Amino acid sequence: MLDSFAPPMPIPGLIDPVPVPRAVALRADGRVDLIGLGKDQLRTALLDAGMEPKQAKLRAKQIWHWLYNRGATEFASMTDIARAQHPWLEQRFVVGRPEVIEAQVSSDGTRKWLLRSPDAQDYEMVFIPDADRGTLCVSSQVGCTLNCRFCHTGTMRLVRNLTAGEIVGQVMLARDSLGEWPSQPEGRMLTNIVMMGMGEPLYNFDNVRDALRLVMDGDGLALSKRRITLSTSGVVPMMARAGEEIGVNLAVSLHAVTKEVRDEIVPLNRKYGIDELLQACADYPGANNARRITFEYVMLRGLNDSDADAHELVRLLRHYRLPAKVNLIPFNPWPGAPYECSTPERVRAFSTIVFEAGISAPVRTPRGRDIDAACGQLKTAAEKKSRAELDRQAEQKMAALG
Ligand code: SAH
Ligand code: SF4
Repeated sequence: MLDSFAPPMPIPGLIDPVPVPRAVALRADGRVDLIGLGKDQLRTALLDAGMEPKQAKLRAKQIWHWLYNRGATEFASMTDIARAQHPWLEQRFVVGRPEVIEAQVSSDGTRKWLLRSPDAQDYEMVFIPDADRGTLCVSSQVGCTLNCRFCHTGTMRLVRNLTAGEIVGQVMLARDSLGEWPSQPEGRMLTNIVMMGMGEPLYNFDNVRDALRLVMDGDGLALSKRRITLSTSGVVPMMARAGEEIGVNLAVSLHAVTKEVRDEIVPLNRKYGIDELLQACADYPGANNARRITFEYVMLRGLNDSDADAHELVRLLRHYRLPAKVNLIPFNPWPGAPYECSTPERVRAFSTIVFEAGISAPVRTPRGRDIDAACGQLKTAAEKKSRAELDRQAEQKMAALG
């Protein structure tokens, strides 16, 4: 348990990352954070703390409803739980939220939050308001082990999996800040969730699944699985399980149609190639014409943006008979990035070829670029200044030690 407070290890290697498992954390004060626990786990937590079984069954049900449906953060507000029992609960449990280190608002209304875990790991979430929807972009890991060459997150040195509580906690924090408790079916601002923040969700499968189950539970946060999209860079062996055990919409970061180019920009391709990946998409449970798979394609000048690439994309999608839509993402630059964005004319020409083949291929408008909130720009401020800063801190420490 206390392992979770050990400093995270840097993960070596390019394409064969070592996911870091993480048990539900005890906090420094020894209390257990209830956020992230399912109904049965909550009951077990109460039993483990010594509550009598019949009582635990009832209380678990009540508390679970307060947490996920009403957004309660204090036992004192749980009016159907005897007041005399509040101190007992408070001594043993806490209802946590990620700590907010910084909140930024873009000129286009996009909001980004820098969050910090109890063991001082930073991660980010982004809220993108549109006329007809509001999308929360949720992180699944601190950093990412996969090192896609066009992605800033992939350059973070430290990586650890977020817990189920930290993942669902992002959604709950967004609800707090939008004032959207209790859960209600109509009139919400937060209508959609995309697992497109930091990290590769399928390398943190169990926690992402457990968190999304809490998000989808009709008695709790009650967001429909049709409004949730999980994006993967192509972790083929986990895709079938994602379909069966989570069942949300699938997005696949394809980005290239030849082995040569995809090997370069998405190194995971050296392990799971394009054909294997597209076959896994064809087999994805629940994909059909009404629920198409989204293929994300970042437009990189002179690398993957030719007419021939567009035709090959169409050929591949047809060959595998994929119910597909293509999202063309203009490359979002970051300091030191080795690529440039395709010209607008090139992006349009590419989009037209795919569209004329009968496949929808909208060009995504970048959102929140001015606050580094757009796709692929997420890298925490802590990391950005880290090398120089950490060196300085280390020097100071050495000096202090004499
Ligand atoms: N790791 C998962 C989830 C992150 S989703 C995945 O890769 O699918 C973030 C999306 O933004 C992915 O499609 C990713 O490839 C894309 N992206 C990353 N860096 C980008 C950049 N600099 N400009 C535009 N899109 C980028
Ligand atoms: Fe990781 Fe996705 Fe970025 Fe690739 S694009 S490094 S998989 S977050």
